[in-house]
Amino acid sequence: AQRCYVVGNWKMHGMRADLSEARAIDRASLRLPKVEVAIAPPATLIATLRETVTQIGVGAQNCHRSEKGAHTGDISAPMLREAGADFVIVGHSERRADHGETNDDVKAKAEAAQAVDLGVILCVGESEEQRDSGEAEEIVARQLADCLPASAQRLSVAYEPIWAIGTGRVPSVQDVGTMHKWLRAVLMDRYGDEGKEIRILYGGSVKGDNAAELLSVPEVGGALVGGASLTADGFVPIIAAAS
Ligand code: 13P
Repeated sequence: AQRCYVVGNWKMHGMRADLSEARAIDRASLRLPKVEVAIAPPATLIATLRETVTQIGVGAQNCHRSEKGAHTGDISAPMLREAGADFVIVGHSERRADHGETNDDVKAKAEAAQAVDLGVILCVGESEEQRDSGEAEEIVARQLADCLPASAQRLSVAYEPIWAIGTGRVPSVQDVGTMHKWLRAVLMDRYGDEGKEIRILYGGSVKGDNAAELLSVPEVGGALVGGASLTADGFVPIIAAAS
């Protein structure tokens, strides 16, 4: 079986001074070898973080779908790879909301990342309105199916209910379990046996005091953590809970 995968998404947080937190997280993860740990800092810190840590993975939060071209302000997957990234997060709800990213964009970005052997964490999740409609599973399963790249190579999925991000609210373990089962079915349907191996992370208000419960849910293969990943005090207890 694969190790539990605990990933910090620093979003638009992180100056050079914050690398001391990443170093402390790196040191702590040396003592917790059962967990695969990674941080996705802002793009400006990828290369420096790569040189700063020895245990944990380093990732990006987005990439462009093309290798290069006239796209001012964008960064391609080969550039991220060269900067030292091991993986890239694609399809985060904040990118879908802030930049109008579509399922088709997300799929193309995942394939661009895989083309240069970057790991991919593909994010899906429902809005509060969609949850209240009683059809969250159908909606998120369809969203995932529409985003999946042709290959399962180095692919992980993150289920992040939008209403749980940064709110302190988390779904019940029953609801997380039900959703992850649906997502597993989509992965098996698309990739066959390879779909069994893909880790499905939970994300949205994961903290030290709820991580053990969320990670104990069948089909939860790790966590994608925002706010609590910014400091060692916040993140290390989550890694320990996964151990
Ligand atoms: P929070 O852990 O801050 O709720 O963020 C979750 C998230 O969006 C991780 O990608």
